[in-house]
Amino acid sequence: MPRYSFVWTIGCQMNKAESERMAGYLDSAGYRAASSFAEADLVVLNTCVVRQSAEDRVLGTLGLLKGLKAQRPNLLILVTGCFADSNTEGLRRAFPHVDFFFKPGAYSELAAWAQKQGISTAEQGLACFPSDSSLLVGPGASAQHRWMGGISSPCALVPVIQGCNNFCSYCIVPYRRGREVSRPIEEVACEVEELVEQGVKEVTLLGQNVDSYGYDLPGRPDLSDLLAEMNSIRGLARIRFLTNHPKDMSEKLIRAMAFLDKVCEHLDLAVQSGDNDVLRAMRRGYTVEQFRELLSAIRQGVPQISVSTDVIVGFPGEGEEQFEHTFSLLEETKFDVVHVAAYSPRRGTIAWRKYEDEVPFEVKRERLHRIEQLQAGIAAEINSKLQGKRLEVLVEGKKKGKWYGRSRSDKLVFFEDQVDRSGQLVEVRIDRTSPWSLQGISSIIRRIRQEA
Ligand code: SF4
Repeated sequence: MPRYSFVWTIGCQMNKAESERMAGYLDSAGYRAASSFAEADLVVLNTCVVRQSAEDRVLGTLGLLKGLKAQRPNLLILVTGCFADSNTEGLRRAFPHVDFFFKPGAYSELAAWAQKQGISTAEQGLACFPSDSSLLVGPGASAQHRWMGGISSPCALVPVIQGCNNFCSYCIVPYRRGREVSRPIEEVACEVEELVEQGVKEVTLLGQNVDSYGYDLPGRPDLSDLLAEMNSIRGLARIRFLTNHPKDMSEKLIRAMAFLDKVCEHLDLAVQSGDNDVLRAMRRGYTVEQFRELLSAIRQGVPQISVSTDVIVGFPGEGEEQFEHTFSLLEETKFDVVHVAAYSPRRGTIAWRKYEDEVPFEVKRERLHRIEQLQAGIAAEINSKLQGKRLEVLVEGKKKGKWYGRSRSDKLVFFEDQVDRSGQLVEVRIDRTSPWSLQGISSIIRRIRQEA
């Protein structure tokens, strides 16, 4: 009888990357992918609690699974991600229907548990987990090939550093994911070479703070060293990386971005607030003036770059005046994309201990909408300048009859074509633009390169 597994994921790119690995592992252990909880014999919840709304979704899903477990007691339920804190005993008492909780990336714990259940991979059992995998973000490079279980996308997420040492006052991540631990350059290179052999053309190197990459490794290599190594991999066409911290981005990294031809002209750089008092309360480690200077150095060094950012509205201490500082910074700096969120206190964080959540919900919502409206206008203006331009697009698939993919500057591009373009790098002339995506004309599309 075939067994089925379902991996449910919410949250950041790191969670998505880890879910790919777990799905690959379950595949090699003989589980077929189920399309819903109802079909599955084994369920993994890969969770996020960065915002209250995410935690509510986790709690709702755990409630749903409680009902399923009552109907089917043999259903195995595993929970990982940021919901799985170190108080496993407390979690087990609160959610007795969950069979196993394990911290993000703690593959050795998962391996030991799976072995007890008689779950092992056909080739090597669970040996594909590195021995000290509780500290690592993924399986060993040689195991990746099996874990991926066949590549369906030309883009892959590759975790390179796990954890965070920063302790921004609002953030739960350092408590749940621990301190920064980097993977050696050779291990990442080996994994990326294997991915390329399977058809991957673009990798995104992931870390909660990717700019801290390597400081814990012998010889202290940094992110620009890692990028240089990736750039030399034959067959790989594009390299991206996220998330950056304004406090930790170096001039050397900006030079590497300008110099390395496979590194895409896109950056995720979270500003969070445009007010120095709020930034101080958030413990971000930079001022608005330093952020401006950094952004201008990046735009000077890499003139074609697109930059996205994150903003939190309604943080304690953000009055009208402080919010206006953020609003005018966004008007002035004109990011390509702004991810805006309303502050919600996370139990256990410094902000939760120290500050009252004093900004009323309606005020947060109104500020959030004001930024969204502002950004829609800015993005429309930036994207309209791409009209008539030819962009290189890596085709990821088809949606509603149109091919889609991303430009090097991370713009979502749609186009029509009768030929199967999936996985190809093509050139598209932009015909129409909106704040959220670009549309191209099929007649001038051509395949531009097979090999990098
Ligand atoms: S840099 Fe700050 S916001 Fe980002 S993961 Fe670390 S503590 Fe959280």
